[in-house]
Amino acid sequence: MNPLPAALARLHDLAYNLRWTWDHTTRTLFERLDPNFWMERGPDPVGTLLSVSVDQLARAADDPDYRALYERVVADFDDYMAAKNTWFESAHGDRSRTRIAYFSAEFGLTEVLPIFSGGLGMLAGDHLRSASDLGVPLAGVGLLYRQGYFTQTLDHDGWQSERRDANDFTRLPLTLETDGEGTPKSVLVHFPGRQVRAQIWRAQVGRVPLYLLDTDVPENSPEDRGITGQLYGGDREMRIQQEMVLGVGGMHALAAMEIDPDVVHLNEGHSAFALLERARRAAAQTGVDYWTALKQTGARTVFTTHTPEPAGHDYFAPDLVRKYLGGYAREMGVSVEEILPLGRRNGYDSAEYFCMTIIALRAAGFSNGVSRLHGEVCREMWQSIWPQISEENVPISSVTNGVHYQSWSSPETIELYDKYLGGEWRNRPDDRNLWANIEKIPDAELWNIHRERRSRLVDFTRRRLRRQWEARGLSSEEIAATDSALDPHALTLVFCRRVVPYKRIGLLLRDPDRLIKLLTNTERPVQLIYAGKASPGDEYGRQMVHRIVQLSQRPDLRGRLAFLEDYNMAVARTLAEGADVWLNTPRRPHEASGTSGMKAAVCGTLNASVLDGWWDEAWNAAAPHAPAIGWAFGAETSLNEEADDRRDSETLFSLLEDQIVPLFYERGEGELPSEWIAQVKSSLEQLGPVFNTHRMVKEYCAKGYFR
Ligand SMILES: *Cc1c(COP(=O)(O)O)cnc(C)c1O
Repeated sequence: MNPLPAALARLHDLAYNLRWTWDHTTRTLFERLDPNFWMERGPDPVGTLLSVSVDQLARAADDPDYRALYERVVADFDDYMAAKNTWFESAHGDRSRTRIAYFSAEFGLTEVLPIFSGGLGMLAGDHLRSASDLGVPLAGVGLLYRQGYFTQTLDHDGWQSERRDANDFTRLPLTLETDGEGTPKSVLVHFPGRQVRAQIWRAQVGRVPLYLLDTDVPENSPEDRGITGQLYGGDREMRIQQEMVLGVGGMHALAAMEIDPDVVHLNEGHSAFALLERARRAAAQTGVDYWTALKQTGARTVFTTHTPEPAGHDYFAPDLVRKYLGGYAREMGVSVEEILPLGRRNGYDSAEYFCMTIIALRAAGFSNGVSRLHGEVCREMWQSIWPQISEENVPISSVTNGVHYQSWSSPETIELYDKYLGGEWRNRPDDRNLWANIEKIPDAELWNIHRERRSRLVDFTRRRLRRQWEARGLSSEEIAATDSALDPHALTLVFCRRVVPYKRIGLLLRDPDRLIKLLTNTERPVQLIYAGKASPGDEYGRQMVHRIVQLSQRPDLRGRLAFLEDYNMAVARTLAEGADVWLNTPRRPHEASGTSGMKAAVCGTLNASVLDGWWDEAWNAAAPHAPAIGWAFGAETSLNEEADDRRDSETLFSLLEDQIVPLFYERGEGELPSEWIAQVKSSLEQLGPVFNTHRMVKEYCAKGYFR
């Protein structure tokens, strides 16, 4: 890294604090240092500082405009970091010494730090951002993977292939935690016959630190160095090793940072071993026996479960647990045979696998699902853990997910809300009164901004298609055609999500003729964009991606149907904002919450979704006399999945043909679709105050952290 001119010395602090991921002005500051770098690589302040030349820096330091922007950003940053009057201070000021530790196997903060695969990580990232904004004294704990989730590319014939790139931690917005002498701080985790060492990196997320453990240190054997090698990589044994480092090592790391958390939040079961380590520490400190300590610390633990899908819950064979927890349990003065039953539905069944979700549910003082409907599903799903309790009394509550609005909105959207809702909406996105001002936005202004966002989506899609088709080796005519793919004025439908069977990416492909008819209508043009990664080894998912790509190559559909490779945060952000309709078609009730539809909603995109997860709740709470907030279907499910899929596919086609397309093209004064805009406003006004992570974090404080 070239030395920074004294006049711009604080660029270093700004680059190493991930507040830039939600502060557009900070991003502009770095973009202006080297616009070409940003065009090619996307937002990456640390990368920019590593690549920017001495000359570029000198020029910026001499440019009065740049200096003025710099001064403004630095002042705002210092203000933010020092902020006294935060929500937390006013609501829970007496708890200001309390520390909450938030454990998660993935965190989605920026593409630059690829330690996430999907919604779970996005939620964790947004949780930290809102905690920072609200002044909640929280610290994140996770793993720093050498290789993040895979990058998706398509081969010449449209088949998905996967690539994993190695992260170079020294080029990321990370700081290695060291002692006074500059020696890296590290922790030792008890493994069978050895200790595994992990060093600690910090990513600073506004006011909130995120500690990430990394076992790739010379003191470890080559195998142990690979424990944090890959997100969700390897076999069951690798998984239990990762979870030992996350849960047990994570507690050690907090201690190394002199944090003794009062409350621990386990975001999904991966980190449930933290419960055991926390009890061991408490027993050692206070002298109570281990089981009493587990009870006491468990009471101050919050556990969030995220999916009704069986594959989303970790199960380990009893012998694997004996191997990894045997010695560790002896250290705690207990036997692993006493721990095993905690992770089983039936504690007496010695053959039953050990489940991380079950031990967390049993031990945590507060457990929750991530939408009201998911809460109900969880109570039914896990009722057998408490056979003496009736289903409605099963101790699993719900806290509905949200998204961090500023992170998912473009500068234009933020400016629009600043203008009509007042700048306070950034601090209080959960304030209904502020969102009521949506009514004041002139229809034409709202529509024009949306048209800009749709144009940006079209440009973005063309650019990505071009890159994608060049890499696939398509002909030069085909590549040239990407310049005119899609229409910035056409009704734009988007389906973006992980390709897993329950999300039913293929619902509209069940009737290709009807789809083609919809997309080739010249009077009322409709276009459809898909994006999504199939999990490696998921043959169904690979087939679906291939089918969509094949269909999108048909000459009559080329400009109307697109598949974008490598669904990631940038794709989600651009498409959620630019779409007119966000499609979501899970098989109810498999979608615990879903958050991409919330990203769409906050920008004025309408949802057309199965009544599942968050949408079930949003739809049922909608004001009966206000304009609709979008479209809903798929509430009934039977044991006949094929029949359900057929019916839901037909319903979605009918909705599109009979309601969505006509409403969009019903133009009045000034060519404005006034009924459509009325629905957008209704959606913003009603959903805006609810589906954000500020509301969610406050709810966790009230129901979970400070019960
Ligand atoms: C928001 C988001 C998700 C979660 O979306 P779902 O609604 O759960 O499908 C997944 N991946 C990325 C990249 C996202 O931005």
